[in-house]
Amino acid sequence: MVEKQKKMKEICINLFEQRGVTLDRIVEIVYDLQKKYVPDLTNELCLNAINRVLDKREVQNAVLTGIELDMLAEKHLLSEPLQKLISEDNPLYGIDEILVLSITNVYGSIGLTNFGYVDKVKPGIIGELDEIGKKTDKCHTFMDDIIGAIAAAAASSIAHNAVGDKD
Ligand code: MG
Repeated sequence: MVEKQKKMKEICINLFEQRGVTLDRIVEIVYDLQKKYVPDLTNELCLNAINRVLDKREVQNAVLTGIELDMLAEKHLLSEPLQKLISEDNPLYGIDEILVLSITNVYGSIGLTNFGYVDKVKPGIIGELDEIGKKTDKCHTFMDDIIGAIAAAAASSIAHNAVGDKD
């Protein structure tokens, strides 16, 4: 991997931690998504899959863009009406879900199916981010979808690998 992309991945992981998400919280979700289908699944396999997803440039770009918008909204630095739409996590805004399609698309239709599931069920840290976003002045409008999409993509990567389809 080129040095620049490695650096980008590091920046993404640091941003996650700053925003309250460690990779092991994403591992929990990936494990739950795939344990039914992959009997010998381990946390390590899940972490490796998450790392493969975070190596991709389109994923890194989506992470940087979405988290930046959340942080700008927290600081009230966006213009109206966008400021209100994002800081209130308006359900009709919808661009948070659209942005992360660039993450789920990497693994085709199974990525999209997994994302639809986590978006609905909001397991683990995804539900926590959603709650914190609603109850405090933190903004996680993009963050919950980013984490959901990364978990969905990593689960899909494991599924592809399980059938011998290396990515
Ligand atoms: Mg959202």
